[in-house]
Amino acid sequence: MDPRTGLPVVGMVGGGQLARMTHQAAIALGQSLRVLAVTADEPAPLVAPGVDIGSHTDLAALRAFAAGCDVVTLDHEHVPTEHLRALVADGVTVHPGPDALIHAQDKLVMRRRLAELGVPVPPFAPVNSLADLTKFADEHGWPCVLKATRGGYDGRGVWIVRSPADAQPVIDSGTVLLVEEMVAMRRELAALVARSPFGQGACWPVVETVQSDGICVEVIAPAPDLAPARADEAQRLALRVAGELGVVGVLAVELFDTGNGLVVNELAMRPHNSGHWTIDGAVTSQFEQHIRAVLDYPLGATDALAPVTVMANVLGAGQSDVMPIDERLHHLFARLGNVKVHLYGKAERPGRKIGHVTVLGSELPSVRRTAALAAHWLSSGRWADGYDIHAGERA
Ligand code: ADP
Repeated sequence: MDPRTGLPVVGMVGGGQLARMTHQAAIALGQSLRVLAVTADEPAPLVAPGVDIGSHTDLAALRAFAAGCDVVTLDHEHVPTEHLRALVADGVTVHPGPDALIHAQDKLVMRRRLAELGVPVPPFAPVNSLADLTKFADEHGWPCVLKATRGGYDGRGVWIVRSPADAQPVIDSGTVLLVEEMVAMRRELAALVARSPFGQGACWPVVETVQSDGICVEVIAPAPDLAPARADEAQRLALRVAGELGVVGVLAVELFDTGNGLVVNELAMRPHNSGHWTIDGAVTSQFEQHIRAVLDYPLGATDALAPVTVMANVLGAGQSDVMPIDERLHHLFARLGNVKVHLYGKAERPGRKIGHVTVLGSELPSVRRTAALAAHWLSSGRWADGYDIHAGERA
């Protein structure tokens, strides 16, 4: 408890953009997020005053950090499960707890548990040798998808392999792997929900996520042309998973839409890229909701504020001759006054997620075009083909 405000203290392990945006939401609730960051120049420690510098893999640092917090939560899933168990044994409140989090840390554990629960997942198998893989591929066909069971993100740790020769180097690397059937999908969706220790659940509209090179680049809320019964099914599924696994906080369930059914890809137990649109586009943002959930406050309404919201990620520019980001912002603001910009305070590197933009409106094509235009401009310093900064959009 903060003796000055009388409010509980939330600590987040990890100092990335999720912690930064959680801090932003915490401010409005009268709080200041405490952060355990590896270095002082990460997105969250740049803006939050209550920062411990230390590694999320160092139990002593975690213990010292937890001592000043009423509840500890996470900006990423890389805290060793056994360290979280040690904190719980010390009497620290950790949300999500280690028994839930393991399903967001280890893809094989997650696949096994969801299959047990009867949740649709792609056919999968552990892989310890090339023979394991070829046995699976003989049954399910090539190509198939090899995945590192732990540690992957943004598509790192995912390999589409078309033949044994393709897979050999991955297997030789010694990474602990599983293999999955390559799912023929129409598109990717995400069902974002929150759950409190009391057991209250809340779900935002189901969204479509668009990936490029394994990175989520665009999110459309709600997912266009998703049959209401299918959206309902996705939300129920996500709430059920949250309940069965005992998740506290935000849970993102990444889904494949096969056209005639839903298949679960991934789980994330924290605010998620697919929910960034909620900052500007929903009554309660995922960041506020995460704080409410981990503090066991009643959850907020999740209604969308507009018929359509599109979020597009801003990636660091690839070329060296691009105009400075400050100048790019200047031009963007001059041209597109309805674009909400969120930058994470990161140094720009080619392809690195440095921010996102959000646009609200009523017509999907124009909202989507504006968001894509803004993100492309900020990411490259070039307007998309067919757009003239002086004349506006050409017919
Ligand atoms: P990460 O943990 O790096 O985000 P994911 O497991 O989410 O990795 O996979 C990244 C992307 O790879 C997915 O968004 C999807 O586009 C593709 N992918 C993953 N698994 C499969 C699969 N079984 N079938 C087809 N595509 C897949």
